[in-house]
Amino acid sequence: MANLTDSNFVNKNKPQVYFSGTVHGNERLGANVATYLIEYLVTNYGTDPFVTQLLRERELLITPFVNPQGYYANRREELTDIGQYYDINRDFPYNRQDGDTRCLSTVGARATVQIFRNNFIVGALTFHAGMEIIGYPWGSFNHISVSESNEITATETPDNQMFARIGGALQDQVHSSRFKDIPSGEMTDLIYPCYGSLDDWAYGSSWDTSQNSRVFECSPLTYPPFRNEDYFTDVDYIRTSLYIVEASDNKDPPSSEFGSRGDIFCHDCNSDGWIPRHLRLSLSYFDLIQPYPVYDFPEYFTDYESILLTWRLNGCLTINYMAIEYLLPGASSYHREPILQNGLGYCNWQNEQTVFEYDLPVEVPMNSEIEILFRIIFRADQDFANQEHPDPDMSQVTYINNLRLVENYSEEVHGRTISNVPRLYSVIVRRTGSGNNVNFAEIDPETNRYINQFSE
Ligand SMILES: [Zn+2]
Repeated sequence: MANLTDSNFVNKNKPQVYFSGTVHGNERLGANVATYLIEYLVTNYGTDPFVTQLLRERELLITPFVNPQGYYANRREELTDIGQYYDINRDFPYNRQDGDTRCLSTVGARATVQIFRNNFIVGALTFHAGMEIIGYPWGSFNHISVSESNEITATETPDNQMFARIGGALQDQVHSSRFKDIPSGEMTDLIYPCYGSLDDWAYGSSWDTSQNSRVFECSPLTYPPFRNEDYFTDVDYIRTSLYIVEASDNKDPPSSEFGSRGDIFCHDCNSDGWIPRHLRLSLSYFDLIQPYPVYDFPEYFTDYESILLTWRLNGCLTINYMAIEYLLPGASSYHREPILQNGLGYCNWQNEQTVFEYDLPVEVPMNSEIEILFRIIFRADQDFANQEHPDPDMSQVTYINNLRLVENYSEEVHGRTISNVPRLYSVIVRRTGSGNNVNFAEIDPETNRYINQFSE
C-alpha cells in the first residue's frame, strides 16, 4: 500500500482517502490507474499548486492490487488456501445471503477490513471494469423497492443527495468527446443488488440496524486461525463514502488506449485516454472530501494603506455563505465582514474565476512589520441535506456530509481528528523602502502560513 501525504505541513487534521485498484483480478485497468496515480502525485508534488495543496490537505492510501493472485492469473476471484475460488466483493460481513456466515474467506477482504480498522477513512474509490458506471450505495438486497412490474430499484441512503451530487461531479471529470459518457447512480439501479459487497459494508455495516444488515461474526473455512475480535471490534466509526468506478467496458483495454502524460485535464485532447480521465476523476474526488480555503498571498500591493488578502475555496461544489474574520494589531476582538451570501459562489479547484479578495483597512508603518490573524468562515454544499426518503429514516451519517452540514464538527479516531472548525491564518507583512519606492514582502511564506492554527 502506498501512503502519500505532505507530512511536514502544519495541518494535522487530514482526512484519509482510500483508493482500491483491482479487487477482481481480470478487471485490469484499476491497477494501472493506481500506479499512474502514484506517479502523477509524486512527480507533480512541489511544482503543481493543486497537487501540492492536495497532499497538504489529504492523506491518500492506495492499494493497486487487492487481489494480486487473481491479477496474476487474470481471473476474477481469489484462489484460497482450500483450493476454492472466492469473489472478494461478495466476501464482506454485511447483508449476507440467508444468514451465510462464510464471510472474510479471502485475503483481499480481510486485508481491506484491516485497512479500514487501522485508519480513519473518510472517502474511498474502488475500481472495477466490464462496464462503465460510477456507482454508490445502496447496492444490497436489504434496501430495495420492487415495483408492480417487478423492477428492482435501490431505496435512498441517508446520504443520497451527497452521493448523487458528488457522483455528478465525477461524471463531469470523465466526460470527453473521445469517449461515451458514464452514468452515476445507486449500484442496484445501474447493475443489480448483491450480498456482501465492499461499498455497502464500508458505508453501512457499523450503524445500519435494518433487517439482514449487520453481521457480527464470520466463520470462514480458509486461512486458520480466524478470530472474530480481530475484525469486529473497534469498527463503529466506519461509515465511508465509497464509490465504485466501473472504469471501462473492456476489462483489459490495450495500452494504446491509455492516453499519454501531459495535461491530464484536457478532456478533449488527443492525449486523453483511460488513464488521464480516471486520474481526473480520482483527484477530483480526493479534493471533494472536505471544503478547504486556499490562501494566496498576493504578489503585489497597490498601495501601503491597506492589505489585499486573496483566497479560493476548494473541495466543494457550491458556496452558500462566506465571510472573513480578522484581528488587527492592537484590536481586542475579531471583525467579521460578509463576502458572499445566498449561494452565489462556486468552489472548484478547476474553476479559476472564483478567487475571493478582501482589502484589509490597515496601514503597515514604514520599516516595520505587522501580524494579521484572519479566518475564512463558510458553509458549502448545503443542498446535500435535501433528503426526501432516507432508508433507514435518519439524518446523514457520512463524514463527508457531517463536515459540510454540521457546524464546528469534529471527530477523533485513532488519535486522528477531522474537523471543520475554521482555520486561523497568520500573515506577517513587512514594509520596507521609502517614498515612492515601497515594497511589501511576506516573511518566509512556506512556514508563516498556518503558523497559528488553533481553534477557540
Ligand atoms: Zn469487478
